[in-house]
Parts: sequence; structure tokens; C-alpha cells
Amino acid sequence: MNTNAFALRHIGPREDDQNLMLKTIGVDSLDQLIYETIPDDIRLKNGLNLEDPMTEHEYLLHIHELSKKNKAYKTYIGLGYHPTILPAVIQRNILENPGWYTAYTPYQAEIAQGRLEALLNFQTMVIDLTGMEIANASLLDESTAAAEAMSLLFAVRERDQKKAGINKFFVSENILPQTLSLLQTRANPIGIELVIGNEDTFEFSSEFFGAVLQYPGKDGQITDIKSFIGQANAARIKVAVAADILSLVKLEAPGKFGADVVVGTTQRFGIPMGYGGPHAAFFATKEAYKRDLPGRIIGVTKDANGNRALRMALQTREQHIKRDKATSNICTAQVLLAVMASMYGVYHGPQGLKFIANKVHNKTSTLAHALEKLGYKQINTSYFDTIQIKTKAKKIKKIATEKKVNLLYPDSKTVIISINETTAIRDINYLISVFAEAAKKETITISSIEKANNISKTVQRQSEFLKEPVFNTYHSETELMRYIKSLERKDLALNHSMISLGSCTMKLNAAAEMLPLSWFKWGNIHPFAPLKQAKGYFTVLKGLEDQLTEITGFAATSLQPNSGAQGEFAGLMVIKAYHESRNDHHRNICLIPSSAHGTNPASAVMAGMKVVVTKSTAEGNIDVDDLREKAELHKDNLSTLMVTYPSTHGVYESAIKQITKIIHDNGGQVYMDGANMNAQVGLTNPGNIGADVCHLNLHKTFAIPHGGGGPGVGPICVAKQLVPFLPGNPIIKTGGKDAITAISGAPFGSALACLISYGYIKMLGAEGLTESTKIAILNANYIKQRLQGSFDTLYSGERGRAAHEMIVDCRPFKANGIEVTDIAKRLMDYGFHAPTVSFPVAGTLMIEPTESESKAEIDRFCDAMISIKKEIDKATKDDNNNVLKNAPHTLNMITADEWYFPYTREEAAFPLNYVRDNKFWPSVRRVDDAYGDRNLICSCIPIEAYAEA
Ligand SMILES: *Cc1c(COP(=O)(O)O)cnc(C)c1O
Repeated sequence: MNTNAFALRHIGPREDDQNLMLKTIGVDSLDQLIYETIPDDIRLKNGLNLEDPMTEHEYLLHIHELSKKNKAYKTYIGLGYHPTILPAVIQRNILENPGWYTAYTPYQAEIAQGRLEALLNFQTMVIDLTGMEIANASLLDESTAAAEAMSLLFAVRERDQKKAGINKFFVSENILPQTLSLLQTRANPIGIELVIGNEDTFEFSSEFFGAVLQYPGKDGQITDIKSFIGQANAARIKVAVAADILSLVKLEAPGKFGADVVVGTTQRFGIPMGYGGPHAAFFATKEAYKRDLPGRIIGVTKDANGNRALRMALQTREQHIKRDKATSNICTAQVLLAVMASMYGVYHGPQGLKFIANKVHNKTSTLAHALEKLGYKQINTSYFDTIQIKTKAKKIKKIATEKKVNLLYPDSKTVIISINETTAIRDINYLISVFAEAAKKETITISSIEKANNISKTVQRQSEFLKEPVFNTYHSETELMRYIKSLERKDLALNHSMISLGSCTMKLNAAAEMLPLSWFKWGNIHPFAPLKQAKGYFTVLKGLEDQLTEITGFAATSLQPNSGAQGEFAGLMVIKAYHESRNDHHRNICLIPSSAHGTNPASAVMAGMKVVVTKSTAEGNIDVDDLREKAELHKDNLSTLMVTYPSTHGVYESAIKQITKIIHDNGGQVYMDGANMNAQVGLTNPGNIGADVCHLNLHKTFAIPHGGGGPGVGPICVAKQLVPFLPGNPIIKTGGKDAITAISGAPFGSALACLISYGYIKMLGAEGLTESTKIAILNANYIKQRLQGSFDTLYSGERGRAAHEMIVDCRPFKANGIEVTDIAKRLMDYGFHAPTVSFPVAGTLMIEPTESESKAEIDRFCDAMISIKKEIDKATKDDNNNVLKNAPHTLNMITADEWYFPYTREEAAFPLNYVRDNKFWPSVRRVDDAYGDRNLICSCIPIEAYAEA
């Protein structure tokens, strides 16, 4: 046995443990268990066809070799992506720290106050710089944020505008090309008409409900947004501004001019370009629109002692339950990147940011003047960091490329140069020499940077920003290191104990998978750099596509979507394009079973489909008769069935092939939500069950860490007939031959994060992946067995087995006055993060251990659950003062001089012996969720909310 095989590091239970677990379950072998779990007719006959597994060491050598194929040229392309300097203290203490990157989305606020605070800082920073009233805690990328802004403005049209069907949206021709492509994708299905034009000549007519401007424009020219917004407002046209965050240090905040929404990316705040992502976008708007704000918002509240505490506020949920009026499906966002960008703001503070922005601006100006001296014509009259030269682009391109410099060449007569934080005087001189050579003149050498101001008066920044103490305190490395640590200590992540989040698959995020993300040659590639410079990426991304295509049994894969929900939207748009290619424009009915995740109907609505909800049986399966009836009823207009497999009830429905056949017989396509793919890999696949397209959550099944709520990667894999429609990109050719317009700004989405999944599959290989699936099922069934007698499992397969997760029923405990939330909070006292609360069934917990958890850890978790059950038995209906209702218990409570509670301090804080060795102290008492956050899971929304009346 190769004791260094990665499978042995990734998979928790040792062989002896596995045998004990099988015995507990009452089966002879792992194969017997799998036989009893997965229906025979969907089992794969052959194993996966993948390359042999590598050890961690071999993989690191391999990925290092590949990195050398990437050419990190000096890059001045701009278009929303810039080289940056990631402060080492942030790289080491956040990006490379499992205490931060393995945390879950902060639904359990009491053990997440650290990242909640960092996110509150992020929101504060965005609010200050944009001059808006509220901001969310990140979005997927700038282009998506701009599309969300358009949707929001459409949703909040004034009543008479809605009544009159006002649907025109003005888009500045100076918008980033990838953003324009995304706006096109999103506008069409919901009935918005885009009008692209020049903002200086735009006629403000009552046919328009909204407009979006780029600030500064893609060519670097700063438009006079003050005058535009003024005129737009007078004409009742609401305005979104896509702003460059670093430029806002010098440009007046759009909020000051009356903008309705301001979006952009925080990539420039220390986040590597990573060939396109991941980066955190921001979204800021007016208080009045808070109910329509997409994504997650962190809010301040109180704990049971009246102390300040943070939590995710409810707007997310309100957003999704707007029935068929949903305007957004955002679930996973970009928390880790938002945390890093916020720390960049904390570290530099307002003075530091001004220093950086001034440096960038002054260097740009110095360069412009030197080029003018060489005889070039620079045409931007008001600019921050980007200049536009009118010259023969071809000549410059040839010399620049030879000298390993990337510039932007929008047409044959224009060269655009974007300066950034990393640009040194040496680089400016090098740039000048490129242009001197082209002009056949002697170069000019700059030795000092001039102080400049090339920003027109009307938009120069007057307002202050980042006055809060947090942005003016931690400016030495020691201070920032300790601040980061103080937040980290408040958060429970996978480096403390298992997080058995049903549907979210919190498995190991191996260090070897993560290490390359810090490497220069992976971080510093611009997404629009010529493909020739990204050969290392090409190998990894193509390799990952092929791996995922093989694993899903499909024909091709697109890595573009930045989350599972974006994958859903992408998949549905691909299906729509397919139907339309066959002249089936009318097919718009989307069947969705009642147990589906809330993003499913939200995505369907965004794709312009009409949601019809189908029933579940008492056993938790899809009601096949109801499904057939509805499929036949709508057969002329049937577009799609969205189905999760195994179901969100944790069961491999044996009727799945029959179900997919019914849909095909009635002219529909089958979309499989792949969030539960961890129960399929190597044993069955979506192609095999009859699906046509699925998304995968690489941040669930394929080892990308959850990051506290993102990054995510949600590729879609499709059957042959859908391949031509895979999403494209306006700059770098990607996708199918009849590609739909973009789903994300970058051609390959969050390419840097894709390294993780590529490494995961490379190191496990076919056998390790299949073994992982089997052990995930073993671990789940072991928990089911151990909890028997204490907790009832709600659903199981025909042979009595759970899949890779199970739902345990906590509703009977209401008789003792105990709610499922009380159990979730009490688990914190035992050192555990709660499983998924109340999804997909209210009053239940959904437990998913994953293959990575060892028997010892699972036993500790089960011991905690069983001990809690004993506490529940002692509780009585009208008793609000017991160990469950008062949970979680903080160190302050336990060590206070007075103790009012009818149980001991020891029972409260150290209920089982093992807790003593590794105690985790929640930093606040139970957070007051007056709005009923208890049903909020991963923005999981009860599907009933979408049902047709
Ligand atoms: C997590 C999840 C989603 C949404 O995926 P994101 O990556 O968060 O957008 C959709 N469906 C199911 C069943 C899920 O568990």
C-alpha cells in the first residue's frame, strides 16, 4: 500500500474503522451497502476513465511545471482587471489560512462573528467610496453586478412606468464589453430592451426606465456623470454606475450625484487577477431599494444579553420569495475575496489608499506627457489611470509584444494603456521606449513622477471616506496580524471540527490543492491576455473540463458560471437557445419538484420561464403521477424539468429514469441540479439517469473551500445537442459555435479557483473519487444508524438506506418546547457547527458528513447529538430556562460571578468530557433574529413560495 496516496489523506475513516462502521450498519461489505443504496438500473458498468492519481508531491511538481507555461507579461490591458499588490500579511493570514478559507456561510451567527465583522467592514468601505446608503457583502463579478443593477432598476420602476410597460434601458457604449454581453444575456428573457449609445448625445425620453454608465469608461475617459444623472433623474430615469473602486478615491462618489445603484469589482484591492477570478464585486444602492438588493447583507443586531452582534439580514430571503417576480438567484457570493479586499482597506486606510491612487494617477499623467513629447496624440481629456493614444496600433502591438508588454488595441488606430499599483518608474520608461521605437525616435527617460490632476473639476472627489476607527488603526503588520487573528478566533471552521452541512458538502480542502493559488504565475495572468500567454491555464482548464465531462457522462463542459445558481441560469439559457434553434420559441414551462432548492425557481424566472411546481409523495419522492399529468398538460410548451439527484431529501429515487423519459416524451429537456453530485461520482452520473445538462458546485463536490460564502465555481456539463450553445465571451473566444452571450465577465469564470478541483481530481484519480463517494455514503449511513433511537430519519431509499446525507426530524421535540434552532445553538456548546437547518423540510436537520470525516470525529458528533437528545427529554413545554434554550453559552456567562441557571456551569460548557480538550467559545450569546432567520439556509427558500396559485 502506498501510504502517501492522496486518497488516504482525503478520506477520513481508516480501513479498520470502515469495517467497524459496516458492522454497526449491519452489512458485510461496502459493496453490499452501495448495492442497498443505489438503484441497480442507474449504476455505471465501467469505472471512470481518468489519468492515474498523483501523490501530493507529484502534483505540486506537475502544477509547478505547468505554471511555467504561463507568461506573466507586463500588463496594461485594464477592462476591469489590473495587476495588484496583495499585502503579504493578508496572503499569509487569510488566503493561506484554513481558519478563514474553510469556514461556511455565516448562517450560525454566534460562531461567525469574525467574518461577519470583516464583511461589515467591506460594506462600510463600499458605502463610503460609492456614497450610497447600503451595500451587500459581495457579488460574483462586476458584470453580474451590473446585470443585477439593471434587474433591480427594472423591478423598482414607478407604478405608472410599469403600467405603461416602459422597458428600455440605456447602456453607455463605453461600458466594458463583457458587461454589455452579460446585460444582453439577462435583459432579453425578462423583457428589457437595451439601447446602446453615447451618453453625451442621449435624449432623455420617458421610454426609458434606467441607464448604466461606466465610470471611468472602458477607454479611460471620465464621463460627466453629474450632469447625466441630473438630467436622467429629471426624466425619471434611474441610473446605475459601474465604477472603478480605486478611481473613486479621486473621483466624487456617484451617490453624491444621485446615482441609484453603484457596482464594480474590488479586484484592485489586492486580489490577484487569476486569469479572471475569483474577485468580489460590490453592489451599493439606496435604502429605499433594500428589499430588492441581491445577495447577502450583514446587519447589526443584539444578542440575548443585549450586546452588539452581527448576522446576515433577511433581505436575501425577501428577494427570493417574490414568487415569479424574483429578480435574482444569488446564493454563494465571494466572501473570502471580500474579506481580503476589506483587509486591504483596513491595512492601507484612507491615507494609504490616497497615496496609491495618487501614485497611479501621477504615473499615468507622466507617461501621457512623455508620449506627447514623442509626438503621440493622447485624446482623453479627463482621466484617472487610463490613456488613449491615436496611432497605428499594429506597429505598437508588434514592438510591445516583442518586449513582453500587453496593451489594449480596441481598433487599428487606437492603443489604450492602463496604469496600476505595481507600475514602477522603470516600467514607465520601458513603455515609453516601446513608443519611441515605433516612432523611430530616441527614447525619453523619466527620473521623477510629476504631480498631476487630469480629472475634470465637476467630478473631483470632495467627500471624505473611511473615517471609521477600523480603517485608521491597524496599519502595522503586527497590529493587522492580530486583528485578523482576533476575528479568526471567533469563527468555527473546518480546522476546528466537522461541519455537516447537508447539501453543501464541507469536505477537506487539501493544502496541496490550495498552495498553487499563491504562485505568481497563476495569479498574474490577465483574463484577456493573448491565449499564447496562458498555456498553463489552458492545460488546466481544458483538463478540468475533460475530467468533469467524463464524470458527468456528458459531451462538454463550460467553466464560466461563478456559482451553482449561475450554472442553473446558464443551463436554462442553453436549453432555451436549443428550443429556439428548433423554432420552439414558445416552450417556456419549467417543472420543479416541491423539494427543490430556492435558487431553482429563481433561475427559471430569470430565464423567462414559467414555474410549475410538482408534488412530492409521503416518502419524499417526486410524485410521478403528478409529474406525468403536468408534463402532458403542458406538453406543447414544456421547456424543462429541474431535478436534484439524489433528491434534496437524501434519496436516490428509483423512478429517475422513468421521470426523465416522461419529460423527453413531452418535448422537454432535463436540468439536473448537481449540488448532490458527491453521491454520484464514479457510481452513476447525470448522463446515465437521462439528464441533458447539470451544474456542478465545485465548492461542494470538488474541494474548492467554501470561503465563508464563496468563491464558488458552478460549471455546466451538457449532452451533445446542447454543446453548440455553451456560453461565450466577447473578447476571448469560448463556448459553442452558436454560443449564448456571457454568463460571467471572464471567459473561464474563476479560473484560479479551478486549479483546486483540477488538483483534487488529479490526485484522487478514478478509484479515489469512486471510493470517496462510497465512503461519503458509508459515513452518512453510519450516522443514521448511530442516531437511531434518538432521532428519526425522515426519508430513506427502498432498501432502508440513506444516500450521502439524511434529514433527521426534530419536530416531535416541540412537545418539550424545543425547536430545531435550540438544537443548532446547543451543538455550539459541544464544539460543532449545526447541520443544515430547516431545508428542505421545516423543523429538521440535514446532516452530510462527507468522506473526509474520520470515525472518531463522527462519533464525537453523534455523541453530542445523543447527549442533546437526553437534554431534550428533560425539557418541558413551558420551560424557557434550560440548557437548550439558553444555548450557546459564552465564556462570559460561565465565568460570571453570578449564575442564575437551573443547571451547572459544567453542564452548560463541558457537557461531554471530550469538549474539555478542544473547547470552542461562541463569542456572543444567541443572536436576536426577530425576523425569523431560522429558516434561512444558503438562501434556500421554500419552493412553495413560487408555486402557481
Ligand atoms: C448550494 C445549492 C445550490 C446553489 O448553489 P450556489 O453555488 O450557492 O449558487 C443550488 N441547489 C442546491 C440543491 C444546493 O445545495
